[in-house]
Amino acid sequence: MAAKIPEAQNRLFKNVFVCKKCHTKIKADAQKILKGKVKCRKCKKGAFRPLKKK
Ligand SMILES: [Zn+2]
Repeated sequence: MAAKIPEAQNRLFKNVFVCKKCHTKIKADAQKILKGKVKCRKCKKGAFRPLKKK
């Protein structure tokens, strides 16, 4: 049932990641996440997953 609306998906999900450690949501550029430049502001870990993926 996932309607494909690229712009909306990008806005809602693409730049939001969830810390694997403490599950804090972080809004950051995907490229920065991939390069490991983003750290969780809560636990300082750099492990994230996309918001949609469970
Ligand atoms: Zn964290």
